[in-house]
Amino acid sequence: MAVSDYVIEVTALARTRSEYNRKGFIELAEFSHSNQLKRYILAMTPRLILIIYVGAILTSAAEKPVILRYTFTPDFATSGSSLHVVLTFQGSEAGNSKLILPTTWAGQSDLFKAVRNLKSEDSITVIKNTDADGVRILQYPPKSTIRISYDLMNDWTGSLRHPKECRVVIQNAQAIFNGQNGLIHPEIGQTDQVETDFRWHKLPRNWIVASSFGTGRRSQRFKGEWRMVYDAIFSAGDFRLTQTEISGERLILAARGSWIFSDRQAANQILDIFRVERQFWGETKTNRFLVILTPYEQDFGSSDGTVFTSAFLLFLSRKQTFLTDEKSLLAHEVFHTWNPYRMGSTSGEATEWFTEGFTQYYQDRILLQAGLLSYPEYVDRLNQIVTSYWSSPDRNWSQTQWLERKQTGKPEYELPYKRGAIIALWLDQRIRKNSLNERSLDDRMFALLKSPEKILSTDILIASLAKGLPLEDSTALRSFIEDGATVTLPEELEPDCGLLVVENNGSPHYKPSNGCRVQLKARAAE
Ligand SMILES: [Zn+2]
Repeated sequence: MAVSDYVIEVTALARTRSEYNRKGFIELAEFSHSNQLKRYILAMTPRLILIIYVGAILTSAAEKPVILRYTFTPDFATSGSSLHVVLTFQGSEAGNSKLILPTTWAGQSDLFKAVRNLKSEDSITVIKNTDADGVRILQYPPKSTIRISYDLMNDWTGSLRHPKECRVVIQNAQAIFNGQNGLIHPEIGQTDQVETDFRWHKLPRNWIVASSFGTGRRSQRFKGEWRMVYDAIFSAGDFRLTQTEISGERLILAARGSWIFSDRQAANQILDIFRVERQFWGETKTNRFLVILTPYEQDFGSSDGTVFTSAFLLFLSRKQTFLTDEKSLLAHEVFHTWNPYRMGSTSGEATEWFTEGFTQYYQDRILLQAGLLSYPEYVDRLNQIVTSYWSSPDRNWSQTQWLERKQTGKPEYELPYKRGAIIALWLDQRIRKNSLNERSLDDRMFALLKSPEKILSTDILIASLAKGLPLEDSTALRSFIEDGATVTLPEELEPDCGLLVVENNGSPHYKPSNGCRVQLKARAAE
């Protein structure tokens, strides 16, 4: 089959437009370094999000796929490295097409500044400017084959430090870009079918290609929805590949630079996270995932991870270890494979309290289960979320107010993460308490995974999550989610895992106990 190895089960790692904005906020806040706690929470706030599958369902199967071909050729001129890109596609019957240039991603704007020498490779196609910097109009004889070329170059100077990695990175040892900051393309709907072909030419002998659609070979193909390309990562450079596999999870680590840990150590730690999550969800399908690890040009002080189609890109400072924050971020992203993507389609921002918040609650529990956190360390991280929630001025925003405020561009972007995580904590403890520790939130999560209901609205989620709880609890749950009522912090962590302590100034935290036997359950085999 011509389709790449990486057309895989993690089929929906994608971003919505709002996510880009949120990421922008995160980047700026991380960059400020002004508040450790805030940084921690933000560092744990990954950049993923939600795509609504309904569009995919409505796409006609009979529609002809858009065929696109890209070639990438690096050029290491003394004036600066660049990547020459040639795009070929079939023109329309009308004889004109909209050409879309990169504009914004991850809080970065004017991304088209990395595009130089945009031109048609033949004389029959004319490129016309429009009022929008990110849009050109192509005119050509009907049904012509269109060949457009451009050069991608860094539009930043100085050393590679956060947040420059959010723009294209073209250097003499690596080229890294993604579907949104580096690919010019004709206008295509997110769920439209495409057949794409990516080829890398004239790469230095020691360069290896590592992309969402394949690693190692110099050409990759992908057939599927355009959003998978839009959210894909493309890279080539002096990478070292480490492949590892556990019970159906195949991981490829593409690392470059020298680290204080070995590639194998990093790969094994990453794979541990996958292993525990697969175990948790009872996953039996084979999965493949690429992790690209590359250094910032600084020794300490920064890290940034972003998930793409079937891949995760991680920038670390050169002398940094693979720390808990990065592992937690990865655990978060991997958890999205199931919440929400295997569960069904969600309602975007309106259900982030669940997709992001509950994932935030679970990400450190996964590390705990993987033995990557001790129980006191886990509680310490939980306390940081508790403090962040408790001290948030936006804590009592209703869902409607928060969504409206988002339209203004000035919301507290991480509210659904921390509020959702605290709601998950409350719910987990209610279920444990009511069932004398026979059941937990895990059972409700597994029920959602198995449910035939695949359109997950807030109503459907509440009905499923509160199943078996007294009416007053399901009413409280709705009130936390919709009205922004202050979530009641459980007095103790079941079973015998810690007690709530409230300081004189009213701020709460949990004190872990020694006898805790908390465990994530593996889903019962069916
Ligand atoms: Zn997330």
